[in-house]
Amino acid sequence: METKRLLGKTFREQFKAEVREEIAELAEKGIRPGLAVILAGDDPASQVYVRSKTRTCEELGMGSQQINLPAETSTQELLARVGDLNRDDAVDGILIQLPLPRQVDTDRVLQAVHPAKDVDGFHPSNLGKLFSGRPALAPCTPMGILEMLKREGTPMRGAEAVVVGRSIIVGKPMAMLLLQNHCTVTICHSRTRDLGEVCRRADILVVAVGVPALVQREHIKPGAVVVDVGMNRITEREQALTILGPDSARFQKFEERGSVLIGDVHPEAAWGIASAATPVPGGVGPLTIGHLMKNTVQACRQRRGRPTRFAQESH
Ligand code: NAP
Repeated sequence: METKRLLGKTFREQFKAEVREEIAELAEKGIRPGLAVILAGDDPASQVYVRSKTRTCEELGMGSQQINLPAETSTQELLARVGDLNRDDAVDGILIQLPLPRQVDTDRVLQAVHPAKDVDGFHPSNLGKLFSGRPALAPCTPMGILEMLKREGTPMRGAEAVVVGRSIIVGKPMAMLLLQNHCTVTICHSRTRDLGEVCRRADILVVAVGVPALVQREHIKPGAVVVDVGMNRITEREQALTILGPDSARFQKFEERGSVLIGDVHPEAAWGIASAATPVPGGVGPLTIGHLMKNTVQACRQRRGRPTRFAQESH
């Protein structure tokens, strides 16, 4: 079977084009949506993510501000910054780049973000709305995946969907969105008995665990749609060799660079057996940032009293 490669950038460009239209419409009314990103510490991966978020905002003509705090920043300092942004009328969306430094109470900081500006969709108020089926700002990665599945025409009504991982960021909201779209949903986690057997039932398999190459070829049902959320940077040669094999082009690249990005699905597992699959890198990653822009415009319209097209589309 030929497996369609689902490339996130295709959908990200669609999201951006839609956001551009909304921004132009808002500009006529003198409104410019704005996103503020708080980055605490000097994690290199977080710095890359934040830079690409603010760059995308600027490219689309949105307001953007980046607040950098040192690694030793306290919960109180972060709460104060969030409070300032909650009160700032030019800020429609507040994003706290995770992970926060170890000494910070992450839950407290996330809950301090005003639900109307919670473009990450992690606030209990927004999660509660999502779980009770009301319009809400929903987490960007699962929303982006759902939108991709819809645009691909993936049959969802009555389909068996298996979500591996139960985080608030991906697994749980993903399961809820698939349920709202009439899938029969199973959620797996680290204590699931015989993960492979459960995965093999899936017409739609979404994997978000953070374990490189956990899902293997024999875990995939022929014809399934496989979405690999995992982004695991591997730097150990033995591990790269075991997963990629000595003769693969990607292993040669690893030898040159000293690292490689591997998903939670084995890089060769889905091809030739699934009907469609997302590669790593290049699959889910770009969807997240694309949907963040949509959430920011949605937050802007809702807070400034202008109903959004996005909210109606997504729920
Ligand atoms: P997380 O909060 O660490 O949650 C991981 C989940 O996987 C947990 O529910 C855990 O189960 C489950 N799990 C761990 N080992 C397992 C195993 N051997 N078998 C079955 N389930 C297992 O992770 P996350 O934030 O959801 O992120 C997951 C992955 O997605 C990471 O690689 C992350 O980098 C990536 N990610 C990518 C994007 C993107 O934009 N592409 C966005 C977000 C996350 P328990 O609950 O039982 O511990």
